[in-house]
Amino acid sequence: MHSITPKKVNKHALNVVNKLQINQFEAFVVGGGVRDLLLQQKPKDFDVGTAAIPKKVRSIFRNSRIIGRRFKIVHVIFGKEIIEVTTFRGQDSSDNDSLKTNDNGMLIRDNIFGTVEEDAWRRDFTINALYYNPTDNTILDFTNGFVDLKNKILRCIGDANVRYPEDPVRMLRVIRFAAKLDFTIEEYTAKALYNLAHLINNVSSSRLFEEVIKIYHCGNAVTAHAKLLEYGIFKQLFPETYTLIKDEKYFSELITLALENTDARVADQKKLNPAFIYAVLLWPIFDSMNIPAEEVIFEIINKQNTIILIPKRYSHVIRDIWVLQKKLVTKKNMDSLKALEHDNFRAGFDFLALRAMLDDKLKKPVSFWEMVQKEIKNY
Ligand code: ATP
Ligand code: MG
Repeated sequence: MHSITPKKVNKHALNVVNKLQINQFEAFVVGGGVRDLLLQQKPKDFDVGTAAIPKKVRSIFRNSRIIGRRFKIVHVIFGKEIIEVTTFRGQDSSDNDSLKTNDNGMLIRDNIFGTVEEDAWRRDFTINALYYNPTDNTILDFTNGFVDLKNKILRCIGDANVRYPEDPVRMLRVIRFAAKLDFTIEEYTAKALYNLAHLINNVSSSRLFEEVIKIYHCGNAVTAHAKLLEYGIFKQLFPETYTLIKDEKYFSELITLALENTDARVADQKKLNPAFIYAVLLWPIFDSMNIPAEEVIFEIINKQNTIILIPKRYSHVIRDIWVLQKKLVTKKNMDSLKALEHDNFRAGFDFLALRAMLDDKLKKPVSFWEMVQKEIKNY
């Protein structure tokens, strides 16, 4: 017995599943949507898995488009909401070309269609491979995900020593889910992390930007960060920061304070700027320079970009936040008004306030800027 009812499922996802089934194609709600509903949590999005090939899905839904080059998926669009429809993927052993890996064991082709059962085995963790059919209210569970969900266990489907190299992003996903859901990582699934953390280097820098943000915005960043450190992944993502925080407790404490702040904002459903996290995590590098000068800011960011590609619009915010650290301490007059108009004043101020919690010298400027902001509000 399970706790899902069709009513709890997003109506557009239901609509997509129904229509596919009416057209004689197997279709299920799958992935995080099912997982989160079973955990009585609010799903972020709903994914649909189907036997229909992308072209077919596209023809069934007028409001849809095919996306992706390597593995094509279909987005069915309902106003602001998008239901992602994925065709079952399989592993055809007669065609060695279908599931090809490169010298690093990384998947370079994964686009052979399959049955729902084969599709389940291609997914990452057992709790993410549950298929819900709203029509008869049943759940298909090929990998024993239901038991793992009940026991709060994250278990890699298949051999973690093979599945992580295929797509090292799975190592970041397991950490995010463990932190977010407060699950235990099963022993073998965890052990492989220590051994394979270095493979993070094989992930494209733009994908890493997205995945790292998802981790730090998961609502339990303090735990997630601790796990990244524990499994040796943080060192791969932020090598320079890692060296500095290893033997400087002040920086670790500052990062923890910032992450607590981020977690509180997630809990309050407040807006988050992705640049803030990077400004915090890279700050130790800037702060440790003998003469932290504006000119070096983009050098630091460019160096980080070789691993995690920070989009330009965010690197400018990082620069503003850092530059404001000095300005907010030195400017103490009506220039303040100009500073308030500054686009990133609030982010810069928030960071200064965090730093002030560990540095008494900064408490005065923080109170000053608090007062100025209050006055402006009352004005
Ligand atoms: P959330 O949306 O809450 O972040 P999710 O599990 O739904 O979590 P998605 O990125 O939406 O994550 O992916 C949907 C499903 O696709 C997953 O539940 C999983 O079954 C599968 N999946 C996603 N990424 C991978 C991957 N790198 N390797 C294997 N399967 C994956
Ligand atoms: Mg999802």
